[in-house]
Amino acid sequence: MPFPTLRRSGAAAALTAAALVVGLVAAPASAAPASAAPSAAVTAAAATTTPPAGTADLGGDTLAVPSWAKDRDMPGTRAAPGEPAVERLYVTVAAATSSTGDDTVTALDDASIRRAVADLSAFWSEESGGRVSVQLAAVEQRSLGLASCEANAAFGAARGVAHGGRFASFAWAGTHEHLLVLTREACGTKAFATVGGTGGEIFSSYGLGEQLGTPVLLHEFGHNLGLGHAGSAMCRSTTAVDGASGDLRTAPDASSTAQCPVEEYGDFSDIMGYSVAGARPHLSAPQRLALGWLPDAVRLAVPSARQRVVLGALDGRTGPRALTVVDPATGTSYVVEYRTASGRDATSTELRRAQPRCSTVGAGFTKCALTTDPATGGVRVLRSIGGAGTAVLAAGPVAGKGPSTRDTHLDAGERFTSAGGGVTVSVVSLSPTGGAVLDVAVGAQRAATTTTRLVLDRTRQSYGDPGPATATTTVTTSTGELPAGTVVLRDGTAVVAQGRPDASGTVRSPLPVTLTAGPHALTASFVPDDDRQVASSSPTATVTVDRATTTTTLQLGAATQTYYGSTGVRLTATVTQASGGRPQGVVTFSRDGVALGSTPLVDGTATSTLSTRTTTGTHRLTATFTPSDASVAASTSAARAVTVTRARSTSRLVLARSTLSKGQSPRATVTVTVPGIARPVGTVEIVSRGKVIGTATLTKSDSGRAVVVLPKRGRTGAYSLTVRYSGTANIDGSTSRPATLTVR
Ligand SMILES: [Zn+2]
Repeated sequence: MPFPTLRRSGAAAALTAAALVVGLVAAPASAAPASAAPSAAVTAAAATTTPPAGTADLGGDTLAVPSWAKDRDMPGTRAAPGEPAVERLYVTVAAATSSTGDDTVTALDDASIRRAVADLSAFWSEESGGRVSVQLAAVEQRSLGLASCEANAAFGAARGVAHGGRFASFAWAGTHEHLLVLTREACGTKAFATVGGTGGEIFSSYGLGEQLGTPVLLHEFGHNLGLGHAGSAMCRSTTAVDGASGDLRTAPDASSTAQCPVEEYGDFSDIMGYSVAGARPHLSAPQRLALGWLPDAVRLAVPSARQRVVLGALDGRTGPRALTVVDPATGTSYVVEYRTASGRDATSTELRRAQPRCSTVGAGFTKCALTTDPATGGVRVLRSIGGAGTAVLAAGPVAGKGPSTRDTHLDAGERFTSAGGGVTVSVVSLSPTGGAVLDVAVGAQRAATTTTRLVLDRTRQSYGDPGPATATTTVTTSTGELPAGTVVLRDGTAVVAQGRPDASGTVRSPLPVTLTAGPHALTASFVPDDDRQVASSSPTATVTVDRATTTTTLQLGAATQTYYGSTGVRLTATVTQASGGRPQGVVTFSRDGVALGSTPLVDGTATSTLSTRTTTGTHRLTATFTPSDASVAASTSAARAVTVTRARSTSRLVLARSTLSKGQSPRATVTVTVPGIARPVGTVEIVSRGKVIGTATLTKSDSGRAVVVLPKRGRTGAYSLTVRYSGTANIDGSTSRPATLTVR
C-alpha cells in the first residue's frame, strides 16, 4: 500500500506542536527532513546525513501528562511492572472539515482498524513477553466541523468529546484505556501521544497503511506505555566512547556543547527511534528491562575478573537476551544486547543493508549508522537517559577509519570500555544461532604480567646462507590466558621479524639471511594489544654470522707465449660464493707474487691478458678475489704456470760493393730484425772462412742496423761472409745467409 512521501520540516512541525499542545514538556528535537529521493545504489562508501527515505516526521511527538492526573494513577489500578495488562483502545475516526478533499489515501474502515489493532497487540505482546495485549474497545465516527485541518486543533477538538467524554481532562489516567484519534485528512502528517500514565491519548494523521501508518502507531503507543525516544550518542573523543551521565544530552545539532550529544530518534534498531517505512524493529533491552519484560537478563555489578557471557539474539527465544553491567566506579548501568537480522529485526533499517548514514557530530567527529552486517548481526551498548529515553553508544570502530569515526554497534573482536573504566565488554564472536560470546570485566582489572623467552636453534650462521638459524619466542601470561599482541624480534634496535603468537603463545622466525658478519645480540619483545596484558622482553641471545666463503679459480687461454709476441695469454678468473649469492668485488692478477692489476668482477668473472713483454721463462700466475662486502671472505686461486719463449731474430748482411781491389776495405751493413722489437740490442760478428773478421755492438739507437768496415783482404779471390747475431736473454740469436766478396 503506497504512502505519500513526507516533505514537511521537522523543526517547523515541532514549534507548532509546542505552541498549541497543553502540557508539552520535552524540548522537541528536530528530525531531519526525509530524503526526497531514495538512492538505488547502496555502497558502503556512500553515506548520508539525513534519515532514510520514507522516514516519518515525528519531531515533538510527545505530550506530557500533568502530575495531578498521574497522581490518580495509583497503585492498585496500575499493573505492577512485569504484570500482565490488557490495554483497551477507543478509536475516533474524525473528519476535521466538511470537505474531504485531502483525505488520506489509506482506508480507515473497520477492517483496517481491526488489522492495525491486531498488529499493535501482536507487537507489544511480543516485546513484553506476553504481558501486554491490546483490545479494540470501540470505534466512533466524528465530524469536527473545522475550517481546515491542523493536527493540534483537530486533536484538541476531538479529545474532550470523544467516546462520550471519557477521555476528557486525562480521566483515562490509571485505567489502561487509550484514545486513538485518526483523521480522514492528512492534516500535515502529524502524530503524537501522551507519555505514561497507564492509559493515554494518541493522534495520528498517518492513516493505517502498513508501510508507515502502523509503524507510527506502534511508536506512539510505546509513548502511552511510558517510553521515551531511542537515540544515539557519539562522544567527541578519540579515546573515550562513553561519557559521564551529564555528558549525554539530547542535542538537536552538532553545535551543541554536550560532550556526547544524543540524537533523539537516532537509534534505527528501536521502534522508539525514527519511524522508517516498512521498519518494525524491536524495543531495545533497556526499555524492556525497565518495564520488567526481560526477567532472564544477566546482571553484573560486583567487581570480578573477566567472565564469559553468551547472549542470545534479542529477537530469539533463548536467553539470556540482555546483560546489565554496572561500573562500580560511577554506578552507571550499561545494557548490552545482540541484534540479528531475524524476526521483526529483519525489517529494521539498521539490518537491511541500507545506505550507511553518517553525520558530523562537531568538528572532526562522525557517527555512522545502518552499517551492521546482517550476516552476523551486532552487539549494542545502551544507556538510559533523561525523559525515559535511551541512547545507543557509538562505540564501534569503522573499518578503514580512525578513532574519530564510529558506528553504533560492535563486531566480533571489538570492545567497549565505560567512561569510568570499570566495565569492559569484549565481543569474542557472533553467531545468529549460537549467540554473541562476550568477555565482560567489572571493576578495575589488574593487567596480566607476561614473560617472553627467546631461544635460537643454533648460534652460528653463514652470511647469505638460505638455511638460517630460527628464533623461537614464547610468551606466557600470569593468568594462563593466551598472549594477545605482537612479538617483535630486534637485532640491537633494528626490527628483524615480527608476528602474533600462535595458540601455544609461540612465534617462530627464521633469522634474515642478510644479517651481516659478526655477532648479533637479539631480543624478543611482546607488545600487547591493550592494557589487559603487560609488555615484556626476553634476555639477549647472540647469533654469530660467519663471512660467506668464496672460491676463485684461474684459467689460462694458453700455456705459452712469445716475448714481444703478437698476443698475450688470456687470464680468466671465476669466483663463486658458498652460500649461493653473487659475489661483488675485484680480482687482482699476480705474476710470481707481484700484482699486475685489478679488474672488477662481473657476473662472477674477471679477465685480463698477460703482457707480451713478460720476460722469458716460466711464471706462476694467481688470481685473488677481494670482496666489496665485508661479510664475504676473500680467496686466491691455485697458481697456474705460463712459459714465455724468446723472440726469434733474423740477421742480414749487405756489402757496399761486392767486388773490390786488393787494398780496399770492404764495408758491410748488418741488419737484425726481431718481430715486435724495433731496436734489438746485442753483438754482431762477421765471419769469413771460419774467422771473425769484424764485430759491432748494437745499441738501441742503432735500431738493429750497423755498418762495419772490414779489414783489407790481402789475397785476390772470392770470400763468403756471414753475420752472426748473438741474441739476448729474451731474443734468440741468428746467422745470416752468406754474402760473396770478390777481391781482384
Ligand atoms: Zn515519539
